[in-house]
Amino acid sequence: MTVEHAAAGPGAGLGPGPAVLAVDVGGTDTKAALIDGGGTVREVLRRPTPRDAARPAERVVDEVVRAAAELRGRHPDVEPEGLGLVVPGIVDDERGVGVRSENLGWRDAPFADLATARLGLPVAVGHDVAAAGWAECRLGAAAGYQDAMVVALGTGISAALVLGGRPYRGGGLAGEIGHARVAEGPGCVCGGRGCLEQVASAAAVARRYGEATGTPVPGAREVLVAAVAGDPTAVAVWDDALDALALGLSHAVALLAPQVIVLGGGLSQAGDALLGPLGARLDALLTYHRRPLLTRALLGEDAGVLGAALLARDLLTRDLSAREPATPTTGVEP
Ligand SMILES: [Zn+2]
Repeated sequence: MTVEHAAAGPGAGLGPGPAVLAVDVGGTDTKAALIDGGGTVREVLRRPTPRDAARPAERVVDEVVRAAAELRGRHPDVEPEGLGLVVPGIVDDERGVGVRSENLGWRDAPFADLATARLGLPVAVGHDVAAAGWAECRLGAAAGYQDAMVVALGTGISAALVLGGRPYRGGGLAGEIGHARVAEGPGCVCGGRGCLEQVASAAAVARRYGEATGTPVPGAREVLVAAVAGDPTAVAVWDDALDALALGLSHAVALLAPQVIVLGGGLSQAGDALLGPLGARLDALLTYHRRPLLTRALLGEDAGVLGAALLARDLLTRDLSAREPATPTTGVEP
């Protein structure tokens, strides 16, 4: 298994294209950015994500409008032509609807229509993890690859897929490897049992160590430190997580044959302590399959907002080409 260790940040920005606004609505924070026509991110604003049980989607759009006004006021030379808005949960990209978010509380929220009505701009809506993955594929660790899987290892586990150079969304339900069974237990919030994210997410590593020792720890980082120091319980919990992750990834590799698997999210900060042993386990599970490059995400916490900007630009470019006159069909073949 080829394991790549990269430490650089994002390179030259998004490149030339329409100026756009980009917003990444997270479970805790919302990030809003203005990208100019040269592809430079002029500024990123970060605010707590507003929560309003009665009108959750409208409050999020209120915050988008406020951030847009603030960014435009401070950068009057940049005239954004569109907005990319990415949100968590289940998302219908085509209709621009947030189908549901357990965490933030909306159901069938028409984000594209709401934001277009308030801003007077075309709005592309996408899924946060998928958009971050798309950014890694266009600008980050998977740039130049046609078939890639970008796995977010955080509180939960999910993957973004790019196949044949295009995002594969499966109606908003592709990439949910966090809820595929890899063990006999425990029960999961999704209603299943032994889901990958109940064993191998950052939250699960911390929780399982706390349960085994009776001493709660704040996060997976503390478990890894204890494992490196030789604590047998920590070693066992960490090994279980690596085994489960390798098993889950091996099935994805057998099915999709990605050229590269990019690991992001909190657990990926473990770096070599994750990549090395995970690569060895995955290698041992594969036979004649394509062996993907295993590497860390490059774009960091701004991947989602960069992905939102790419979605906005993709939408604007698509609309432009749709407006171009059709190729004449009466011409004579040369
Ligand atoms: Zn589950």
